[in-house]
Amino acid sequence: MGAERVSVRCCIAGGGPAGMMLGLLLARGGVDVLVLEKHADFLRDFRGDTLHPSTLEVMHELGLLDGLLKLPHQKVMRLKGQFDDLALTVADFTHLRTRCRFIAFMPQWDFLNFLAEKAARYPTFQLRMRAEVTDLIEQEGCIAGLRAETADGPLEIRASLVVGADGRHSVVRARAGLPVEEFGVPMDVLWFRLSRRSDDPDDPIGRFDAGRIFIMLNRGEYWQCGFVIAKGSRDELQARGLPAFRESVAQLAPFLADRVGELQDWAAIKLLTVQVDRLRRWYRPGLLCLGDAAHAMSPVGGVGINLAIQDAVAAANLLAGPLRAGRLTTEDLRRVQDRRDWPTRVTQRVQLFIQDRIIKRVLGAADTLTPPLPIRLLARFPFLSRIPARLIGLGVRPEHVKTPSV
Ligand SMILES: Cc1cc2nc3c(=O)[nH]c(=O)nc-3n(C[C@H](O)[C@H](O)[C@H](O)COP(=O)(O)OP(=O)(O)OC[C@H]3O[C@@H](n4cnc5c(N)ncnc54)[C@H](O)[C@@H]3O)c2cc1C
Repeated sequence: MGAERVSVRCCIAGGGPAGMMLGLLLARGGVDVLVLEKHADFLRDFRGDTLHPSTLEVMHELGLLDGLLKLPHQKVMRLKGQFDDLALTVADFTHLRTRCRFIAFMPQWDFLNFLAEKAARYPTFQLRMRAEVTDLIEQEGCIAGLRAETADGPLEIRASLVVGADGRHSVVRARAGLPVEEFGVPMDVLWFRLSRRSDDPDDPIGRFDAGRIFIMLNRGEYWQCGFVIAKGSRDELQARGLPAFRESVAQLAPFLADRVGELQDWAAIKLLTVQVDRLRRWYRPGLLCLGDAAHAMSPVGGVGINLAIQDAVAAANLLAGPLRAGRLTTEDLRRVQDRRDWPTRVTQRVQLFIQDRIIKRVLGAADTLTPPLPIRLLARFPFLSRIPARLIGLGVRPEHVKTPSV
């Protein structure tokens, strides 16, 4: 059977935050757009589930905020941390000059389903699930479309623009041969769930002890727990046995001691191999990469979704007009990188600084932990917590929706 052939103005590989937001914005701007997502649904565990003030601002600009906030979520006004015995507020969002002065914790699948539902109102929007992009179609040095495998067989799509929004293991960026710069990372993260009780604390918890970092996010009925380990040390940890791991968790969060037994085997504990990289060039004629496909972020500050959404907003602002008019140039694609490369670089630089100066030291400490200087300063001068709040909550170049709804 031959491949099904489709022609669209813009084809987006990947229905994550970057791809779905771009799809929605382009369709709203009157561009004929098709999003391909390889999974059958948006359900995935242990994903970035944070909607930052800048993302909530974008949703407000789209007139979608009230509807979004009707979905179940938890509001976090402050991020707190504990370094050995030193308790402090790391980021205080209540001073931001935005509509929402909090981070909304919402399952990513709820957010993506919401975007899909709102995008479907536009006749120029199409989403195909179970459509896995496998290759690019190239013509005279220009990307002219892509190939995908779907539940109904092979699919061949011709498009004026192909967008790689297919995440950190992007097939699109690999096939396009775009040059990648990789950065060293000192850690990996183990994610797992433990049940939450009504008398547990509400706020997220960040606990820094000599050799260990433990993050707990309140997800309503359960705690989403992140146990940060030195890069490549999972095997060693496993060799010490599950009871020793449970004991470690109970020491870091004593109120969990009565339920660490819920961790019955290592299969319940998922490894996130942390990776930080960035494309040197985000585009080629006919192709653009965005979000994690252009820059995999460190989990420090949990800003990956934020940046992915901001990339999508900037791309839609710059590309909707030329795409609609059928006069997209490679120069337009360069403008998207020019706009988003700087905030990405600054954010990654700050993340790498924190990884190097704080996380590496904490993980390398043998018995006692002296809080690093930035932490001592934050503890001494609480108003400084507005700076991380701004960086985490808004980023260094917040984007605003400029495309008119057509
Ligand atoms: C465990 C974990 C925890 C995280 N925690 C946070 C957090 O708290 N806050 C935060 O902001 N960020 C967090 N992140 C990072 C965040 O999830 C990402 O930065 C963000 O989702 C990037 O969005 P994206 O749309 O660029 O890529 P992705 O979210 O990776 O989406 C890519 C999409 O493309 C699809 N896809 C991949 N390949 C193909 C293909 N060949 N064909 C078709 N579709 C394809 C994937 O199925 C996926 O739906 C976390 C990441 C992980 C792994």
